[in-house]
Amino acid sequence: MVPGTPEGFLQFDRVQKSYDQTTLVVRDFNLDVAKGEFVTLLGPSGSGKSTVLMMLAGFESLTSGDIRLQGTSIARTAPYKRDIGMVFQNYALFPHMTIAENLAYPLKLRKRPASEIKAKVQEYLDLVELGDFGTRTPAQLSGGQRQRVALARALIFAPRLVLMDEPLGALDKKLREQMQLEITRLHKQLGFTVIYVTHDQTEALTMSNRIAVFNAGIVQQCDAPDVLYETPRNGFVADFIGENNFLPGEVVGLTDTVAEVRISSGDVVRARRADADRVGMRCQISVRPEKLFLMPSDHAFDTKFTARFTNRLYVGDFIRYFFRLPDGTELVVKVLNDLAAPEYADDQEVTLIAATKDCSAFAPHKAVHEDGT
Ligand code: ADP
Ligand code: MG
Repeated sequence: MVPGTPEGFLQFDRVQKSYDQTTLVVRDFNLDVAKGEFVTLLGPSGSGKSTVLMMLAGFESLTSGDIRLQGTSIARTAPYKRDIGMVFQNYALFPHMTIAENLAYPLKLRKRPASEIKAKVQEYLDLVELGDFGTRTPAQLSGGQRQRVALARALIFAPRLVLMDEPLGALDKKLREQMQLEITRLHKQLGFTVIYVTHDQTEALTMSNRIAVFNAGIVQQCDAPDVLYETPRNGFVADFIGENNFLPGEVVGLTDTVAEVRISSGDVVRARRADADRVGMRCQISVRPEKLFLMPSDHAFDTKFTARFTNRLYVGDFIRYFFRLPDGTELVVKVLNDLAAPEYADDQEVTLIAATKDCSAFAPHKAVHEDGT
């Protein structure tokens, strides 16, 4: 855990949820969150992320298990008594109120004195850089500005915990990136604890202290962004986070940490042993496009195999090279577009190299679709 108390600030203890008494949409969910931590629940649509937030907010009951905030169970506490700020995509601003009235609302609800409300509203308008917009209505703001007001409204009563469920989903790419920076800045400045939900892995990687990757109601791995990216625990995580090549093969040797895998070119690839657990099993090697190199310029690279060149795609700062293995597997290598970027003839045999630590051997998994489903 990053900053905070040793026993954990927020704890999910074997939480499960079923809406229909038969299927569990959240299974055996355990998570300890430290005070001030930014934890993201990431996963495909329908994997149970929002259900976890709804249980935490108090809008859905738990089927079993417990949720504790600062050591006290909140599983039966009414939502408004949980002291939680929320930014949900469909949790809109009040359209008939001005921006200032929207911000004042959570403070009025908590019966704060008028003088304090006035000062706080101006402070939080300034905080999200909307100091002169207090008298406008939501309809008179842009999408990004409205989202900043929603953020200020969730933070203004200094909640101990802030929940955000796909808060930037409706914004275009540029605004979304601005708001990501904005939320990260406020989190650093004010030090609140965040549980953030998204299906966008770039958003999760750039904003979070830790990410819990969900699939079908089960956490596949919960780690810091760099740990998830560099050492995925299984094929689902390797596929869902970032871009990856998957090379089918057969395990021909195993040590505690390394799997030796024969791929269709006949080469034996040495890979970090993830969940591949048996000599003779069919498996997959994953290796990221930027971790594969085209020329054996460094003998420290201990994994080497040949593939045939099929295509070269110019993307500006990078060039993407495409190769094919004898079994038809396509793979991509990402190379910086500099003077050393090579030219190949069609079907030319090229040696590719990678470090063992950057290859992972997995039991086969079902592919994740482009749209995250
Ligand atoms: P995510 O937020 O990851 O997209 P959800 O938590 O919304 O996933 O949904 C998880 C599963 O629970 C899905 O199969 C969804 O259809 C189901 N579900 C969500 N809300 C309800 C509900 N109120 N009643 C019945 N089923 C629901
Ligand atoms: Mg959802």
